[in-house]
Amino acid sequence: MVYKWLNNIQSRLLPQYCILCGQAGQEHMAMCHECYNELNFITNCCTQCALPLPESASGLICGKCLQYPPHFDRSVSLFTYEPPASHLVQGLKFGKRLNLARLLGDMLAIRLDGASALPDCIAPVPLSGRRTRSRGFNQSMEIARPVGRKLGIPLKPALLTRTINTPPQSKLAIKERRRNVRGAFRLNGDNPPRHIAIVDDVVTTGSTVNEIARILKKSGVETVEIWSVARAII
Ligand SMILES: [Zn+2]
Ligand SMILES: [Zn+2]
Repeated sequence: MVYKWLNNIQSRLLPQYCILCGQAGQEHMAMCHECYNELNFITNCCTQCALPLPESASGLICGKCLQYPPHFDRSVSLFTYEPPASHLVQGLKFGKRLNLARLLGDMLAIRLDGASALPDCIAPVPLSGRRTRSRGFNQSMEIARPVGRKLGIPLKPALLTRTINTPPQSKLAIKERRRNVRGAFRLNGDNPPRHIAIVDDVVTTGSTVNEIARILKKSGVETVEIWSVARAII
């Protein structure tokens, strides 16, 4: 049964079925209305880091960003990193269900469609060569692909390289995370585009994307956005 859904979802010629329950999906998405409505979408949040905020403060900048301004300018995140949405990310990353990347990327594109100024290019957060080889794919790249296709923005997977194979951030405390990623990325080539969106699966403390934004800004990039599927609430 599961295998049959996956085959259906992967084929663009057949109708899409809900990836969670198997019922008929929506026109542009492999998820039905009911399951979609169960997801923990972030609606009101800090514009800079996408931290959920009360409705009255939506569209403002949170206290943490005011106190310690990050290097990136804007963030868009679909969900809080909790069930059921976290199962989708985990299914992609650890269960290697690559069809989930298409669903998550499509959802991200729908959220971003109509944004006032879209970036010149999209760059996924790179994994180290070793981790890409052991996982077989880079989940951020797989999510970024449908986003770029739907929004008509070129994907630049080689813009950044991870130069240090850092330990997984999930095993570290907040302070260690910042130290762990310092100097872990390299920008390839001169004259990067002026406006870049970085795509990540889950933003936890923001240390990784902030380090990438630091490198980009240092190289003359004017605007850096962070687009992620989920935002951990810590
Ligand atoms: Zn469903
Ligand atoms: Zn913030």
